[in-house]
Amino acid sequence: MKKTDEVVTLLSEVIKIDTTNPPGNEEAVARFVQDFLKKEGLESEIFSPAPGRGNVMATIEGKTRGKPIILLSHSDVVPARQEEWSVPPFSGAVKDGYIYGRGAIDMKSQLVAMLLAFVTLKREGITPENDVVFLATADEEVGGSMGAEYMFEKVKNLADAQFVLSEGGCLIEEDGFVHAQVSVAEKKICQFMVRAMGIGGHASMPHSDNANDKVVRAANRIISHNIPFKPTSIVTKYLDGLLKGKHVGGVTYDTLSKALKSAPFRNFIKNHPVYNALLRNTVTLTMLKGGEKVNVIPTESTVQFDSRILPKEDHDAFLRRMQRVAGPEVEVVSTAKGESIPSSFNSPYFSLISTEVKRIKGDVPVLPFLTTGATDLRYFRRLGIPAYGFFPMTLSKEELFRMHGVDERISVETMGEALECTVGIVRALAALKASKPR
Ligand SMILES: [Zn+2]
Repeated sequence: MKKTDEVVTLLSEVIKIDTTNPPGNEEAVARFVQDFLKKEGLESEIFSPAPGRGNVMATIEGKTRGKPIILLSHSDVVPARQEEWSVPPFSGAVKDGYIYGRGAIDMKSQLVAMLLAFVTLKREGITPENDVVFLATADEEVGGSMGAEYMFEKVKNLADAQFVLSEGGCLIEEDGFVHAQVSVAEKKICQFMVRAMGIGGHASMPHSDNANDKVVRAANRIISHNIPFKPTSIVTKYLDGLLKGKHVGGVTYDTLSKALKSAPFRNFIKNHPVYNALLRNTVTLTMLKGGEKVNVIPTESTVQFDSRILPKEDHDAFLRRMQRVAGPEVEVVSTAKGESIPSSFNSPYFSLISTEVKRIKGDVPVLPFLTTGATDLRYFRRLGIPAYGFFPMTLSKEELFRMHGVDERISVETMGEALECTVGIVRALAALKASKPR
């Protein structure tokens, strides 16, 4: 079977296993992977934190044990509403040159590509320098307590990893121009709630101690607060590599620091959802709750913000700032925090990825990237383990938008190319000698 046919069939089969989380049902994918590996003569182990939930892990032993290279994917997907789709989201349909289905982008495509790349080492009789581990976790889309977090409790040597490759970046095609985003860091989760208490009463006799009024005023102050731009080294390198010499936002871009001095350029950034999120802490008002009845003044009211802060920002300092902005009539309460230490982009891992991408795609810019959402990589990065999010699939902005959206799909052509590049990356990783101890 041709490699592209093999990867397309595998992807289609894995999409057919509905792993919508909740409830998850990832054990079915774990068993599928285990059977596939068994046919290739590779043993694997399934770790089940609960009925139906499963993480699957396999190891190809290296010349030197320890310091494993980890190929990390997650097997759960976000929900899909069948009535909105042009094909059933768990059919794995292959039509018009595309593989359709929930997970086609995030991230069953990378799961099967890494699985085949892993198996390729075995097929080619390659003994890696250090152990190479294939790990597909459950529960990534809902926080990872049944997945990556559980695996860290069960498998102590995950903490000894040399390098981890997973999701978070890809190749983007925009206006006929392709560049690679290799994610070396992610923003940190810093979710919080704004809560106000007040005195109840009948709505026909308003007074000034209305919990809803206080929360609305505070929320308004927060959403209209101007959060400053803070260019990090990763984002500076990314935007410089992407925009240099181009005419954008009313300037001819030379360097980020120069461009940011221009008001029209700053405006352009603010209106560009990706660049805006790359350059500053963001706050997004996502939930409002207050009041039970139209004629009753509520005694308690809350709003929830999803906030993502830059890697080196301090959660507590940011929340104190939000409290100052919100004002004294409400309380800012932290609801979720995540830690993540950026990985260096000056590394042999970055170089070998760059080499492989250029081998397949020609001389395209391969740039470090900051993922704005959270992935399982944070469990490794917070231990200081170098971890990159990259899958060499080429997507247009429109295709990228289908991730978590309607008619998620990946083209057969890009899937074949992504597999070839992933195999190249995994071969190069296998040949890499672990350098000095971290
Ligand atoms: Zn994902």
